[in-house]
Amino acid sequence: MSRDGGCSCGAVRYKLTADPLIVNACHCRDCQRITGSAFVLNMWYERRFVEASGEQPKSFKLTAGTGNPHELFFCGSCATYVWSKYYAAPGDTLLVRAGTLDDPTSVKPNVHIFTRSKLPWLEIPRDMPRFDAMYDLKEFFPAESYERLLRNIEEQK
Ligand SMILES: [Zn+2]
Ligand SMILES: [Zn+2]
Repeated sequence: MSRDGGCSCGAVRYKLTADPLIVNACHCRDCQRITGSAFVLNMWYERRFVEASGEQPKSFKLTAGTGNPHELFFCGSCATYVWSKYYAAPGDTLLVRAGTLDDPTSVKPNVHIFTRSKLPWLEIPRDMPRFDAMYDLKEFFPAESYERLLRNIEEQK
């Protein structure tokens, strides 16, 4: 299934040509600061399934909790943050911000991560998986997604 999205001013557009590997709700402090909100919804994708069009996003790099770079991509005209790349993650993947979808109701989080900095007023549904920090990919990813990720890692060699 394909999904479309873009920045607030419409200069940056994208099409997602597969389903996400997984959808993370991330409560880390960087995501809270960058979004100005309680958490971010990240759709994890192999880069080749993210077809950008229009203006090329600008980027800057933060240092993630792992010590590796976290590169953030945003519209140069309206500064909407559309996706990011975690260099610590295997393969060539991007985390696309679900809030920038034309229809954000089309995805739901599969898991909440970095709940150690979750805001106390926010209640995560009881049956929703959650992790204080990050999960182990091999243990937690759905089997099909893990296979896709392994293929992607193999393609980068
Ligand atoms: Zn824009
Ligand atoms: Zn985060």
